[in-house]
Amino acid sequence: MAARYSAWGLLRRGLTGAAWPRAWRDHDLKPAYDVVVIGAGVHGLATAYYLAARHGIANVAVVDKAYVGGGGSGRNTAIIRSNYLTPEGVRFYDRSVRLYESLASELNFNVMFSRRGHLTLAHDDGSLRTMRWRAEVNKHEGIDSEVIGPDEVAALVPLMDTSPDARYPILGALHHPPGGTIRHDAVNWGYARAADALGVQIHENTEVVGIDTHDGRVRGVRTTRGDVHAPVVVNCTAGWASLVSRLAGVHLPVSTHALQAAVTEPVQSFLRTVVVSGTLHVYVSQTARGELVFGASTDSYPSYSTRGSLEFTEELAGHVLELMPSIARLRVLRQWAGLCDMTPDFSPIMGVTPVEGFLVDVGWGTYGFKAGPVAGEAMAELIATGLTPENIAAFDLARFAEGRLVGERGAAAVGH
Ligand SMILES: Cc1cc2nc3c(=O)[nH]c(=O)nc-3n(C[C@H](O)[C@H](O)[C@H](O)COP(=O)(O)OP(=O)(O)OC[C@H]3O[C@@H](n4cnc5c(N)ncnc54)[C@H](O)[C@@H]3O)c2cc1C
Repeated sequence: MAARYSAWGLLRRGLTGAAWPRAWRDHDLKPAYDVVVIGAGVHGLATAYYLAARHGIANVAVVDKAYVGGGGSGRNTAIIRSNYLTPEGVRFYDRSVRLYESLASELNFNVMFSRRGHLTLAHDDGSLRTMRWRAEVNKHEGIDSEVIGPDEVAALVPLMDTSPDARYPILGALHHPPGGTIRHDAVNWGYARAADALGVQIHENTEVVGIDTHDGRVRGVRTTRGDVHAPVVVNCTAGWASLVSRLAGVHLPVSTHALQAAVTEPVQSFLRTVVVSGTLHVYVSQTARGELVFGASTDSYPSYSTRGSLEFTEELAGHVLELMPSIARLRVLRQWAGLCDMTPDFSPIMGVTPVEGFLVDVGWGTYGFKAGPVAGEAMAELIATGLTPENIAAFDLARFAEGRLVGERGAAAVGH
């Protein structure tokens, strides 16, 4: 049992000086598990947690070559929303938003979910048409989204340049009130702690270097700490997904690109909503501490490097100032990058592969953090029942061979 976090617990430990137990424990690697999950990001951890919590399958190892949240799950800009373009996408991400809403109480961990609204700006007729399309699909699926005009944008974000003679005038925006931000580290740590408490073993610094298969079936994994037998192996390695799948002989239509982000010094709160401009390739939100968090689209060339670049910061600053000229004197404190596993249709790849027992939950590109809970829930159900849940059926690997793409580019390329 993990220690329960509460005001009373804080007071008691403060008065007695008793230490809090570690959030998750170290273990020796066992020779066999029921399930091995590769990758201790939000997807791998959520899958392990729901396996144990909902299905009683706790003989599970989550192995990571680095540390919990060391991939995209600890590097993202933490935007949560469900205003996607396709009905499949909207329904799927909406389920995740709902799971996030109750996650703090479910995990007994403050994940700092802040429902602050999400604005996607339209600077030309083409974007406005896409916003209207998204708003209609969203409403049809019961999601709160609507197209608003420049005056309403100005009321929501007073520092935004909404004048008609701006270089990129704002013609309107898709307003999505349920969207917001969350504390990504807290989500990772909360899932890790809760999974550990249920008996899941988390093995950091444990790289998978081989995947054993026999007669079209997975048998286990080879790691830098020894071999492990498992009838089910799940690939949750995002930016490394195609390399790991190849170890099992499965080829994925995924290319890996770096995505950069940056944060400024903290200033007094002035930006309540998340603001995205697809045309300018930029988005911005303000944290509870007052820092502005900026992001953009991925670097244009494939890479496994997580180095930041000056070109990114220069371009980003220029584009942000087109939107909010008055923040010109704000200083950027730091920038960073993470790896994104991009698919041709900007939708994930989830479920079974031609190798029996080898499952994938990948292709999360620049938008996968928000899907952690729903993806974990669905993958756990698939493993426990052997049946693909309806809400991930459209995201199967076979769609690329069969021409059933789920085109989300219009809603996922920059908006994350
Ligand atoms: C800068 C940036 C901003 C983003 N902003 C958002 C956003 O606002 N909203 C949103 O929803 N998404 C966003 N994303 C995307 C999101 O972060 C990812 O899609 C998501 O975190 C992927 O989670 P994951 O658990 O699948 O993978 P990851 O968190 O990347 O974890 C994969 C893990 O696999 C491990 N691994 C790799 N190879 C091996 C191996 N051989 N053996 C063992 N372990 C291995 C890695 O060490 C890593 O820890 C952003 C991404 C970045 C980089």
